[in-house]
Amino acid sequence: MTDVLVIGGGVIGLATAIALSQKGANVTVVERDLCGHGATWAAAGMLAPEAERLEGSLLEFGIRSRKMYPQWIANLMRLSGQDCGYWCCGIVAPILADSAECDRLLQHHKYIDREQTDKCQSGLGESITGSFWLPEEGQVNNRKLIQTLLIAARSLSIKILEGINVYQIERDRNRVTHLDTSAGKLQSDRYILATGAWTRCLLPLPVKPIKGQMLSVYDRDRQLQRVIFAPTCYIVPRQDGTIVIGATVEDTGFTQGNTAAGIMHLLNNAIAVYPAIANMQITETWWGFRPYTPNEIPLLGASDYENLIIATGHYRNGILFAPITAKLLTDFIIDGIPTPFAVND
Ligand SMILES: Cc1cc2nc3c(=O)[nH]c(=O)nc-3n(C[C@H](O)[C@H](O)[C@H](O)COP(=O)(O)OP(=O)(O)OC[C@H]3O[C@@H](n4cnc5c(N)ncnc54)[C@H](O)[C@@H]3O)c2cc1C
Repeated sequence: MTDVLVIGGGVIGLATAIALSQKGANVTVVERDLCGHGATWAAAGMLAPEAERLEGSLLEFGIRSRKMYPQWIANLMRLSGQDCGYWCCGIVAPILADSAECDRLLQHHKYIDREQTDKCQSGLGESITGSFWLPEEGQVNNRKLIQTLLIAARSLSIKILEGINVYQIERDRNRVTHLDTSAGKLQSDRYILATGAWTRCLLPLPVKPIKGQMLSVYDRDRQLQRVIFAPTCYIVPRQDGTIVIGATVEDTGFTQGNTAAGIMHLLNNAIAVYPAIANMQITETWWGFRPYTPNEIPLLGASDYENLIIATGHYRNGILFAPITAKLLTDFIIDGIPTPFAVND
């Protein structure tokens, strides 16, 4: 049995804890604010490596993770008995192009013109000339997902230490000796750092918060059945009629709160893309902090300390990347298989 202590109970920490536990490890998760405003709670839950225009090895990583989703969700549902709104609804990525560009786009096998776009999703704004249709992309309800992960973790007897703040990772030469926390010392064989945008508070890694403001409206008619991923905003319909609209991208540190300008920007863009939103009731506004790295690639695997494993920097796609992150870290910890995107690569 390996004892592993995971710092951070967002999607990355919990998914990894569950994967490790299912391989026989004895896992504890320490989280200061389970019901708080981590990125996992704040996200839109899109599973969208193509719409997000990821490139190279990161696109490959995202597509592998997207393919893992159905089975990953089935395992969580089996453990928890909960549904988390996984929905492969497809993504329409509208294009606002002139006719010359439209002719060029016709060569792309995923490009559809305005008429075909309307068949895929009616009611889009007039300025949309065509779109990319991405049928393999979709969404999960990230707030339900976090609850599901918690129930699944508890069903596996993973210890969740709630309301405990980790102040410091104590090290002696190349090993972590213990954590200094609001509940005293915590000790384990190995430690996983999964603290999202707050990582730099514990270790000098190149991760910083990029704020995203969001809002939701209620769609009584439930006409919107696809995620709309426009150049200026995205619109994500949940199965219960909630529509999530996001998101701003702001380099303002950990500044709390929604701003009038942020919400105005989102609403103007969303109404231009899907005009019916103008008459829908606003149900909520919120914000969150994406864990950004300078090359927008996560930091995974070994660190300078032999018993400290890094799992952070998932930036805009951590919900998408959770299944593959959990698998690769488990392969690394249990079987010693090296991870891609290691800190010292
Ligand atoms: C507005 C917005 C929209 C997004 N939309 C999408 C999307 O559509 N699709 C997608 O795939 N991704 C999306 N993301 C990105 C995604 O949410 C993140 O990449 C992902 O949630 C990161 O997960 P995490 O577990 O690393 O971080 P978090 O969910 O932030 O979890 C980290 C946890 O660590 C805890 N913690 C930190 N420091 C300490 C400490 N010292 N002691 C104890 N606990 C600590 C925090 O309380 C937190 O709960 C979005 C993010 C935002 C903000």
